[in-house]
Amino acid sequence: MDRATILIPAAMNPLVTEGLSSRFELIRLDGAPDKEKLLAEAAPRIRGIACGGHAKVDAALIDRLPKLEIVSNFGVGYDAVDARHAATRGILVTNTPDVLTEEVADTAFGLLLMTVRELSAAERWVRSGKWLDKPYPLTPTTLRDRTLGIVGLGRIGLAIARRAEAFGVKVAYHNRRPSPDVAYDYYPDVLSLAAAVDTLMIVVPGGDATKHLVGREVLEALGPKGVLINIGRGSVVDEKALVEALRSGTIHSAGLDVFEEEPCFPQELASFERVVLLPHVGSGSIHTRNRMAQLVVDNLVSWFETGKPLTPVAETPFPR
Ligand code: NDP
Repeated sequence: MDRATILIPAAMNPLVTEGLSSRFELIRLDGAPDKEKLLAEAAPRIRGIACGGHAKVDAALIDRLPKLEIVSNFGVGYDAVDARHAATRGILVTNTPDVLTEEVADTAFGLLLMTVRELSAAERWVRSGKWLDKPYPLTPTTLRDRTLGIVGLGRIGLAIARRAEAFGVKVAYHNRRPSPDVAYDYYPDVLSLAAAVDTLMIVVPGGDATKHLVGREVLEALGPKGVLINIGRGSVVDEKALVEALRSGTIHSAGLDVFEEEPCFPQELASFERVVLLPHVGSGSIHTRNRMAQLVVDNLVSWFETGKPLTPVAETPFPR
């Protein structure tokens, strides 16, 4: 195999760099004393990118790399990569689906339970010694008799729905199109779904198409017993509208793993005892992150060894 040159724009899981270093020349911008100089020197020979997290692979970067063939993204969400622009240049984008599905669904369901049963606040009660004075108050919310509206019934959404069924929780959903494989009630828009349920689980991708899909109107439709869980992307929820809805009692509570401007978030969110905040840990176990790292490596190796990617995204299908 050719020793192709791969750009790594930002720090990644060490298994990615370990897995790639014996087969490829790696250009690692993270920690480089003069990133711009390094990139300018290597740009003409870069044929692949390994990226993830918030490192942007935008049109400007893609267009600086005349020999670019493939962008291998760490994560199933690839909103930081301009995949549409890559498609116009015949460049493939790959992501890491399936290997993280069950982990993220576990986290989502844990976050749901933590939120409806106030488990974070109850734990703080024990640690602060308040339990010595009095028992923790009974929670006004419970999973019992709830209906879970899943926005994004894809791989992870379906895995969450399976968990909900096992817990005796009714499921409804919204996608752009109804899924022929499920019997759950389908709603053609988020507003009608929110009006029909009391618990909304966001599992859609980020990007322009889903920006602020959940705003003031949707939160009003969800109502005063409503619980919002966001495990998808922070950009899907209008955080200002959410803070206002929590402050005014428009909805009851929220559990959030993702935020609009991570790692920052509106400080007022932290002032609501009932709200549960997680630092984007949906897939964050060593087991699952290692599997994701391996798939980033495998996509690049497969492309450069066999001419086929393993998991191309919808915007850059293969064969083309
Ligand atoms: P899938 O592609 O399998 O599912 C996405 C679902 O969203 C599909 O059902 C799709 O249905 C629906 N959807 C997409 N766009 C829209 C839209 N504009 N409006 C309404 N529905 C839409 O992806 P996964 O389930 O594997 O992952 C989902 C997302 O979860 C990722 O993109 C990522 O953002 C997030 N995620 C978060 C993690 C975390 O750590 N918190 C970890 C992993 C993933 P249809 O096409 O019919 O609309």
